[in-house]
Amino acid sequence: MDLHKKNVRFRLTLWYTVTLTVILLLYAGITLFMTWLNLSHSLDRHLEKDYEVIEEMVEIGPDGRVHIDEDDRSFLEERWIEIWSPDGNLLYNSRPFSGRDLPPWHPDSNLYEMTFRSLTTRSGVRMRELVARANIEGHDLVFRLFRSEEGIYGELRKFILLLLIALPLAMLAAAWGGYWLAGRLLAPLGRMTRKARQIGDRNLHERLPVDNPSDEMGRLAITFNELLDRIQDAFERLRQFTYDAAHELRTPLTAIRSTGEVALQEPQEPDTYREIIGSILEENNRLTNLVNSLLFLSRADSGTFSLRPETTDLRELVEQTADLIQPLAEEKQQEFLIEGQLRAPLLLDKTLLRQALLNLLDNAIKYGPPGSTIRITLQEEEDTVRLDVTDEGSPIPEAYTEKIFERFFRVDASRSKESGGSGLGLAIARWAVEVQGGELFVTPGKEKGNTFTIRFSRRTQTSSV
Ligand code: ADP
Repeated sequence: MDLHKKNVRFRLTLWYTVTLTVILLLYAGITLFMTWLNLSHSLDRHLEKDYEVIEEMVEIGPDGRVHIDEDDRSFLEERWIEIWSPDGNLLYNSRPFSGRDLPPWHPDSNLYEMTFRSLTTRSGVRMRELVARANIEGHDLVFRLFRSEEGIYGELRKFILLLLIALPLAMLAAAWGGYWLAGRLLAPLGRMTRKARQIGDRNLHERLPVDNPSDEMGRLAITFNELLDRIQDAFERLRQFTYDAAHELRTPLTAIRSTGEVALQEPQEPDTYREIIGSILEENNRLTNLVNSLLFLSRADSGTFSLRPETTDLRELVEQTADLIQPLAEEKQQEFLIEGQLRAPLLLDKTLLRQALLNLLDNAIKYGPPGSTIRITLQEEEDTVRLDVTDEGSPIPEAYTEKIFERFFRVDASRSKESGGSGLGLAIARWAVEVQGGELFVTPGKEKGNTFTIRFSRRTQTSSV
């Protein structure tokens, strides 16, 4: 039967019953043994007392015969006493007929002052025997006294009978109690299982019932619920991401389509066609950038990204990146001002850091006014390295200083879109910095400008690379 493997309740009940039965049996065994020991002991004490009494009652006649002072006949009637001479002659027997039922005393058998032993009569009655040597009025005598052990065995039989009736009842009660108890204990688990089965992507907000938050089951349910919280959160983010991505993709696609449709409505001049194709290519460019950003983020999310750190002169990297994006700045008559130098190179993934820097500079150009200066400063303080990109645009409201790093978030969606932004640039930049153990945050200026800071600690640098 496979039931014991599948069903914890059955297994608990079984263990409970077996354990309880073993304990009961042990207890019964010990009690039985102790009862037997006590009764045997008190039987021996009775025999000793009998002997003390009978010793007082014995008299030796002038003819050397043994007499018993028979004043107290009732005492003798109730007891079985033999008196032997040391050479093996029976001198007195209180029960001459039944005495034949037991083997006679033998002179060699008792060498000690007083001995006890158990024997069985030919008719199967268990007897306890006391043999004692005594000297009465100058005569050596051997006293032999008997008492039946049947009383003891009768008691023990009654006890065993009681056990035979009580034990199966106790086992049944234990099994029933165990089954009930296990059922009660496991009930929350059953409820949790049923609820967990019902939870799917449509009702991911539902949670397992928590009966008692401080017991093991409760803690399991709480842990499971926390896991559900995280899954729901990730699910929501994924849903939102897909929605936002689709939304972002739709805009340039719609633009391309309507531009094409307008162009096809009636014949156009060759220059107009050029213009139309140019704007289609521009939209296409925007689409390509967006798709590249999405691919980048999905690779980042998958956790399979492998860093390639190399010794990097940060100043050099900043200069190269600024050169790369220079044409965009020139379009708005903006200029870069690079200041500061680091004491020593850093271990960094150049490609990732260049990407982050490009996104920051691109934003500084986009959101800074024409003719403004974009200041890039390198500083080092103890073991902290700092790179600040400061523009002269309008300060980002305090409420948005964290939100702007979220995917697809834009403070002013329409303005940002005009300049080709999709809201992914800062999310990518932050990931590219954090994955290397750094930090990226913004400090809006009091009156104008924003400073985006990339910070690395040299200590975590050497330990992580
Ligand atoms: P986008 O592609 O829209 O620029 P980002 O993730 O790079 O996306 O930036 C998110 C938002 O943060 C932007 O839409 C803009 O509102 C704000 N932002 C980013 N950089 C700057 C900056 N240098 N000055 C002012 N606002 C900025």
